[in-house]
Amino acid sequence: MLTAEMIKQKAKELGASVCGIGKLDIFENEIPGRDPKMILPNAKCIIGFAFAVPKGLYYTMEQGNQYFTYTSVGVKYIDEEMAEIFLLKLGATIENEGYDACLQKSVPNLRIKGDKETNPEVADTYELIHAEPVAEGKPAPDVIIDFGKAAIACGIGYPGLSGKVLSPKYGPFVRYCFIITDAPLDTDEAMDESLCDMCGKCKEACPGNAITDDGLNTWQCAVYYRGAHKSNPFMKEDFLKDHPEREAILNGEKVFDRESAREIYPHLSFLPKTNWGYAPCICGKKCDMACYKHLKEKGVLAK
Ligand code: SF4
Ligand code: SF4
Repeated sequence: MLTAEMIKQKAKELGASVCGIGKLDIFENEIPGRDPKMILPNAKCIIGFAFAVPKGLYYTMEQGNQYFTYTSVGVKYIDEEMAEIFLLKLGATIENEGYDACLQKSVPNLRIKGDKETNPEVADTYELIHAEPVAEGKPAPDVIIDFGKAAIACGIGYPGLSGKVLSPKYGPFVRYCFIITDAPLDTDEAMDESLCDMCGKCKEACPGNAITDDGLNTWQCAVYYRGAHKSNPFMKEDFLKDHPEREAILNGEKVFDRESAREIYPHLSFLPKTNWGYAPCICGKKCDMACYKHLKEKGVLAK
């Protein structure tokens, strides 16, 4: 019989840094477009996995030595190769025991209808504005679950002010994927609070002022993630030459929305995109670095 212990052991063997199994009650009032039960109506639980991103990938950006490897290995490889292979193998373990395994990797460039946010990590995002439900009571496709909520349910993470889902062990240096299943597994406790203490260090560290007391402005982040700031070591002298707001932009003083961010994207070409359209990270993820140092100094990260 398939047990939670077997799943956790297999997850570890296949390379997951963390595995937790969550009940679905946290999703009870979820909108249909984010509801795991709209993906698998007889789902019993959700299994969450976290992959630690090596700290060295952040340190080399902090020192200004190397940027592209974080994007290619720490973002693209983990989400687009490692997580996929991992999910397929673990999903097969579950399905070989006679249950369904609905694999949930990040869907970086799609937004459900009505979600006006973006994902700074990719060249651009597409909102599924033309999608319609196939029948009354059904969601418009594609259903995309909220990874922050899923991490809380599985007891493996909880979003902080920066929008990043903070892991009790790895802080912000981690990426997630999930499996929704009808296997009746023993579940873990959901997380009941975030490691985030609202210290504001992430806010101070961002060169684009993309984090406010209300959280992350994803369009602002997308502009500065890809380098519209003075701390960008690849900055060209003729960047936005003759643009009336050049100084304000470089100083992170201009506030971007969807339209103005998209207007400036073509000028933010400092390193090539990776395959699958991942934009190079040129802000050094200063928010995550500041957060990690803060949590480490505070001694709240689990050993
Ligand atoms: S740096 Fe501080 S405020 Fe920002 S997410 Fe981390 S703990 Fe929260
Ligand atoms: S430091 Fe980078 S990733 Fe963090 S909020 Fe600012 S632009 Fe976005």
